[in-house]
Amino acid sequence: MNYQSTRNRRVNVSAAQAIAQGICTDGGLFVPDSFPAVSQAQISKMEKLGYRERAARIMAPYLTDFSADEITGCVTAAYAEDKFSGGNPAPVVSLKNGVSFLELWHGPTCAFKDMALQILPRFLPLSLQKIHAGKDALILVATSGDTGKAALEGFRGVTGTRILVFYPQNGVSALQERQMRTQEGANVSVVAVRGNFDDAQTGVKSIFGDEHIRRQVADAGLMFSSANSINWGRLLPQIVYYFSAWCDLVASGKIKPGEKVNFCVPTGNFGDILAAYYARKMGLPVHRLICASNANDVLTEFLTTGVYDRNRTFYPTISPSMDILVSSNLERLLFDMTGGDDRKVSGWMAQLRASGTYRVGGEVLRRIRELFYAGSCGDAATKAEIRRLYDSEHYLCDPHTAVAAHVCRKYREETGDTTHTVVVSTASPYKFAPDVLGALTPGEEPEGDPFESVRRLSAVTGAPVPSPIAALEAKPIRFSEVCGKDQMKGAVLEAAGRKV
Ligand SMILES: *Cc1c(COP(=O)(O)O)cnc(C)c1O
Repeated sequence: MNYQSTRNRRVNVSAAQAIAQGICTDGGLFVPDSFPAVSQAQISKMEKLGYRERAARIMAPYLTDFSADEITGCVTAAYAEDKFSGGNPAPVVSLKNGVSFLELWHGPTCAFKDMALQILPRFLPLSLQKIHAGKDALILVATSGDTGKAALEGFRGVTGTRILVFYPQNGVSALQERQMRTQEGANVSVVAVRGNFDDAQTGVKSIFGDEHIRRQVADAGLMFSSANSINWGRLLPQIVYYFSAWCDLVASGKIKPGEKVNFCVPTGNFGDILAAYYARKMGLPVHRLICASNANDVLTEFLTTGVYDRNRTFYPTISPSMDILVSSNLERLLFDMTGGDDRKVSGWMAQLRASGTYRVGGEVLRRIRELFYAGSCGDAATKAEIRRLYDSEHYLCDPHTAVAAHVCRKYREETGDTTHTVVVSTASPYKFAPDVLGALTPGEEPEGDPFESVRRLSAVTGAPVPSPIAALEAKPIRFSEVCGKDQMKGAVLEAAGRKV
């Protein structure tokens, strides 16, 4: 199995190279040159397996330069039972009326990013060895809130790596910020950027493409890598839980063998929902993919009309991990939907850079619309959904998940489609305790201390506080640096020069 660039099909690198490098030098994203088919019989066999075995089976065909033992070692360590509260990394909770929630937030940082960022730090050092990099990795991350913490936690103390996280200064929740600023480990750095997530992501991408700084970093014995979902090593582990959820639904009798399901995914950078698309491509019985956005509804418009237009107001919302106007992984969907037309994809991305917009039409748009449904909702509807789910089903969810639950409900009402639908639940409600509490008890929103909200949310609902959140309050703040958009390069050089 080799990997191409979405902007140049002639690129041909191994999985190890794609994972170590993160992004192509031409600015394109690595995609596998084929998608291994998984037969219905093979999927059925996975019903009896645990998460780790399922993960090894789904990922192995993409990692042909890794030995079976290496893959087993990675999944065994990454998805160890004691890392996920309750022991199961991806439990499915079924409610009434054919809707289930796939809870991906029981890991060490309480968001679904752990599913990939517990295993990427195991793939990456192996990849560096395999390509004889002879250098340590300097991992640059732009985060809309959850990736940063999950990457810091995953790479903390991993030999041969150091990691620098940029987050938008006023663009993450109080608890997300606290999680990052208290991060332990000698090989980690955290810097706030004066700007929004897109500014941070653009800054990181331009550093990756900057030959001059790459050479300076190489002189310090380092090579850049990425822990954002532009890295194939992030996307691949996410394919697994779609298969896993389907197997669990069959095993529990919620769906029949072979029956199709819908997945409804709260979406920002289009990584999570793209993994669902790839799972379907491999043979998972999926009817439709429902893409849920908050007020930053650039994807809703694109998937409905074919017009991508980032020239719009940026809204900071209560679901900050989806406050994104440039969805990187859409590029991979376009590559696939055009049958691998690298020239078309390069053209659209050049238009996006130059004018902030491009238009996809004809057959490609028809195919997109046939598979994807897209919807969005604002903060008020998000809060109403949190309350509705809690009141009617006693199910407590975070604002990102609530956006998806809302769009899921709208989809079912609008289309009458009764296909069993799995809403992907992406974060613990406690990560966003002030807003979740505010949704449940309108009018008495507490100001200030987010830990007070955590305690009150727990008192009101009785839901257990995840131990990583409970432990946060007592941890000392380690990072307070703030930089401008144009100072990110300086921060990178500083991190590269630091002794670890
Ligand atoms: C990152 C994130 C999302 C969006 O996922 P993408 O892969 O960027 O589409 C949704 N919800 C939460 C809680 C997240 O952290």
